Amino acid sequence: MHLTFTRSPLDHAGLQRADPAFVEASLHHPAARVVLLTHGDVAMSADGEPHIVHPAEAAIMALLPPGLVFLGLENDAPWFAASLESASTPPGLDFRRATMVADPDMAAILGRARAILTWHARRHYCSKCGTPNVAHDGATKLICPSCKTEHFPRTDPSVIMLPFSGDRCVMGRQPAWPPGLFATLAGFMEPGETIEEACAREVLEETGLKVISARYIASQPWPFPSTLMIGLIAEIEPGEPVAADDIEEARWFTREEVRELYEGPMMRWGPPHYSISRLLIDTWLKGG
Ligand SMILES: [Zn+2]
Repeated sequence: MHLTFTRSPLDHAGLQRADPAFVEASLHHPAARVVLLTHGDVAMSADGEPHIVHPAEAAIMALLPPGLVFLGLENDAPWFAASLESASTPPGLDFRRATMVADPDMAAILGRARAILTWHARRHYCSKCGTPNVAHDGATKLICPSCKTEHFPRTDPSVIMLPFSGDRCVMGRQPAWPPGLFATLAGFMEPGETIEEACAREVLEETGLKVISARYIASQPWPFPSTLMIGLIAEIEPGEPVAADDIEEARWFTREEVRELYEGPMMRWGPPHYSISRLLIDTWLKGG
């Protein structure tokens, strides 16, 4: 099972990209490529593939600030990303759909592109003094020319977990989900928390149940817009769940009930096979 947006083929070249000469040479590299997004979706070429161009071609396109963003090196080939100005471009392919059908390497490159470009769209001005920021290091960071504050692309850690006790697990459902669908619990981490504390707080808030211990399973970047999903399986004290927060119903499931739910027609609407939610459920089903 491969989690989308993971195992990126890119070397982010963190030290090299600080050198403007390296970025300039990368722009002229014959194998350099640019992925193009529009409104956060994937710009498509006439043949139905993600529209990928050389930086020289991108340079004559109408791009949103900061223009080309350096993503990293795939072997020696530099990858960049840019957002097209929407007025001059047709709508792109929905980002989730595009990355569902893309090969894993391309999906990971697109995920990194979307996270950084969305951040740029929201960070034109210094959040400390309001001066327009200036891009540095291939536009992988911004520096305020006035107060010199450095701004880096953000990642928002979020815990996602499947609570269990004995041979049953607890899943919840949100009001917007199709009737009958239940899945893992999740929530953003708060400042001052460890991952385990965030997991315990979220389970308590959403079900009223107490976590005894939590075990890390895997993580997944989730570029909508910049989340890092941290996946756990949490042993909890038995008790009757009381749904609260953004959960409208939470209940216990046996393994048999989870299999029925996830192998039946409901799976059309459930967490997709490439998501960490599904990985946690599958891991628990296998007794892991
Ligand atoms: Zn400033």
